[in-house]
Amino acid sequence: MTLEQLLRLIRAFHIILLSNGSLWAGSTHVPVELKRTAMYYRRELRRRILACEWAVCPAQDLHRNEAYFRNGIVICGACERLEAWIA
Ligand SMILES: [Zn+2]
Repeated sequence: MTLEQLLRLIRAFHIILLSNGSLWAGSTHVPVELKRTAMYYRRELRRRILACEWAVCPAQDLHRNEAYFRNGIVICGACERLEAWIA
């Protein structure tokens, strides 16, 4: 499974991607293959999360109006503000 396939499945099943590469879905079962793939790509996922890339935004429906391009990459402005507030 590629990283892009993983990200599509994470969005489709409303799974929360954590910055350490693990997945959280509350009481919903997360298939082992998804967990393994997320752990395999954890460094790239963490880099994308810290860069607030749109592809890893956990709330794309709510943040839709906040997306913008920076250096050819779609960034989530809402996640960016939240990260600045949390850090
Ligand atoms: Zn976002």
